[in-house]
Amino acid sequence: MRAAQYWGNRDVRIQDIPEPEIKPGHVKIRPAFVGICGSDLTEYTSGPNYIRTTPHPITNEVPPITLGHEFSGTVTEVSSPSFAVGQKVVVFPTIYDKSCTACKSGAINMCASGGFIGLSGWGGGLSEAIVVPTDNVLALPEDIPLDIGALVEPLAVAWHAVNMVDLKPQSKVLVIGGGPIGIAVMLVLKARGAALVVVSSRKAGDVLKAFGADELVDSGGDVVGAVKEITKGSGADFVFDCAGYEKSLKDACQSVAVKGTVVTVAVYSKPILFQPNDLLFREAYLTACLGCVQQDFRDVINAIASGAIKPKEMITRNIELEQLVGEGLHRLLNNTEQDIKILVKI
Ligand SMILES: [Zn+2]
Repeated sequence: MRAAQYWGNRDVRIQDIPEPEIKPGHVKIRPAFVGICGSDLTEYTSGPNYIRTTPHPITNEVPPITLGHEFSGTVTEVSSPSFAVGQKVVVFPTIYDKSCTACKSGAINMCASGGFIGLSGWGGGLSEAIVVPTDNVLALPEDIPLDIGALVEPLAVAWHAVNMVDLKPQSKVLVIGGGPIGIAVMLVLKARGAALVVVSSRKAGDVLKAFGADELVDSGGDVVGAVKEITKGSGADFVFDCAGYEKSLKDACQSVAVKGTVVTVAVYSKPILFQPNDLLFREAYLTACLGCVQQDFRDVINAIASGAIKPKEMITRNIELEQLVGEGLHRLLNNTEQDIKILVKI
């Protein structure tokens, strides 16, 4: 079968590999649509970082690793009656050991030996077939299209981020960063009833307004002053930093309201200068979030099914597997402002 495999820095190959076989406790899936994630890009340009070059403690695999962790598909073979052949599904990509302190407390997204299908082994969505543990498979309702199914993972990350705060109908929220995760956070905030969503980004305003931004601020300018004006001096109750730079975290900590909360969603690519006094004068909180858990997947699937989240406009391009490197990875690297989510159709 065809698969996109990561061999190393700037070395992703579309090639023939053996098709995996069904085994007990697993489901065999034909992937349908696969989103290209920022982490795939980071592994391509500056990795291997998250992809291990020594055997992964759970999968025991090293590169070449099949890529693709945001995906939907159709069941082709089952080992138990939990799923039916032909059923539409999405894959919860987190790999966890079920035995460490974090896993036992339910925080499987922080498993000490954790990994991701599509980055750590067990195959990936960017292939014609994958066999995954039943625990990692969730049913997609028949009326949700498979391309929308590929957006469940990034939306679940956003859902998990919003779970970090006590969102109320009157909440005023600042989202910093207009990339795919920033947009996913906006969609989730509006679906969950935030009164005011201010977005700090370089992206064109009409694009962000379509995703629920009520007010826009230029991320390169005086974000703190603009947020103060928009919120009539109170600041934002909650701030989500989906950008991950020194300025974005500084803006976040200086824009947050008294007793408010800053949530870092982005992965910071390098150490930054941080002034804790920005929080001190507000008795504000700073917290972080990582990935998501199965319940976030279920909540997002329900929110899409009910129409509370309408994420279709996130998909800006569909490409074929053979086009992954040129029309997928390189296009995203060169046109970061134009594309939001590129899906690979398998
Ligand atoms: Zn664990």
